[in-house]
Amino acid sequence: MPGTTYFQDEEFVCKCGCGKVYVHPKLLNLLENARKIYGKPIVIESGYRCFKHNTEVGGVPGSAHLTGEAADLRCPFGPDRFALLTIFFALAVKRIGIARNYIHVDVSETLPQDQVWFYAEA
Ligand SMILES: [Zn+2]
Repeated sequence: MPGTTYFQDEEFVCKCGCGKVYVHPKLLNLLENARKIYGKPIVIESGYRCFKHNTEVGGVPGSAHLTGEAADLRCPFGPDRFALLTIFFALAVKRIGIARNYIHVDVSETLPQDQVWFYAEA
């Protein structure tokens, strides 16, 4: 990915083994900015998902992971969660999901905006 500092394509590759990857420029830009402010590594638990994998992991049918507009960021600890959420709100992220061990952020402009949700497993 040209112009990136912190993230590589490989970190966003679909986890099913299909090898597909797409990272929307808007998502990449957001994560680069967040990473810069955060000052510590951010681990991508789930980036791009093909349709098959999204179904397998119980992703919603229109998930922003399918369009490369979403990432789940590993974040099992309260202080890190607080820091990352503070950063993402400051960067005007409109869609945030909170799970026990990760934070979902996405930059979709077609899915409902100004949303924070939780996951059933969380
Ligand atoms: Zn796949």
